[in-house]
Amino acid sequence: MEEAQAKRLRQPIVVVLGHVDHGKTTLLDKIRGTAVVRKEPGEMTQEVGASFVPSSVIEKLSEKLKKMLQVKLEIPGLLFIDTPGHEYFSNLRKRGGSIADIAILVVDINEGFQQQTFESIDILKGRKVPFLVAANKIDRIPGWKPFENEPFLETIGKQKKDVQNRLDNQVYDIVTQIAQAGLNADRFDRIKDFTKNVAIIPVSAKTGEGIPDLLALLAGLTQRFMKERLTFAEGPAKGVILEVKEDLGLGHTIDVILYDGILRKNDQIVLGGVNGIITTKIRGIFVPKPLQDMKLSKYDFTSIDEVYAAAGVKISAPGLEDALAGSPIYAVNSESNLKEIENKIEEELKQVRFYNSVE
Ligand code: GDP
Repeated sequence: MEEAQAKRLRQPIVVVLGHVDHGKTTLLDKIRGTAVVRKEPGEMTQEVGASFVPSSVIEKLSEKLKKMLQVKLEIPGLLFIDTPGHEYFSNLRKRGGSIADIAILVVDINEGFQQQTFESIDILKGRKVPFLVAANKIDRIPGWKPFENEPFLETIGKQKKDVQNRLDNQVYDIVTQIAQAGLNADRFDRIKDFTKNVAIIPVSAKTGEGIPDLLALLAGLTQRFMKERLTFAEGPAKGVILEVKEDLGLGHTIDVILYDGILRKNDQIVLGGVNGIITTKIRGIFVPKPLQDMKLSKYDFTSIDEVYAAAGVKISAPGLEDALAGSPIYAVNSESNLKEIENKIEEELKQVRFYNSVE
């Protein structure tokens, strides 16, 4: 049992980037909505600042894609950061890269690459985050006949030949544009080696077409190629602060994405503050109340005693009013060397301040 647990994989953290109006928000909404509708009773999908898509949902959706997704999923699911765009992405920094394991670059298939698409690729390359391209709005291709929520591999076969050709021409424009950024790419079902090619998945955030393929690929590729990175460590939690807030009844709180380890109530935590390092003790850990699933923007919180990464949680503790968004946060246990962790955060904060001043 212990050995099996030691090898447990955590959920990959997924971010969405791309040009304005290409459909990032709509895509995230569609994925969240799909998770709520298709999850097993009792499964939680809503977290703080993030949404969880359980593997049970991905397996159900990709039933028709068995050929593509032969493996049983070992990851528990996918954790999507709720806020898209590269401004927010810059807060997800960790030493030597990003806490994001993989990104979806959204491109309007009818418009192709725009300025922020190229910028997004540069940022992802800089932080060494692998990505897939969601070629969005396929329902707008002239002559497209929508088949709600179908896998792309099903719906494409039901389109007329000239519509299929139109889609492929648009996909190849994107391939050419990705080549300008120095990368090879192809439509996902034509790729043999996913380590050498960026996969393009045609989708519609409006009709849900292609979403099964997108989720199956995100899960399949992260599980296959990122095992080491996704292996869960049983130690004290590590995370990054997304936002500092004042919540009714809770005082100053921080919204945190945990990317590794376990966080427990009463844990000592170390994080960056406006006036230097803050060392404090957790008063409460909060997640959204389960019954509020359908209300995606407004929620009440419920207190929990512990949480395993990866997860999005709200933390209350004394002294958080000066906490710094974008700062790392580490839990400390009896074996940890507090001074060492404080120095480590100080070092990382220099990077945060540096990037914040240039970005
Ligand atoms: P963002 O700025 O990248 O987050 O883009 P939004 O998600 O706000 O989408 C911009 C506009 O495109 C909105 O009017 C959406 O309804 C629309 N849109 C997004 N995805 C699709 C799609 O797949 N098909 C169609 N027809 N419209 C879409």
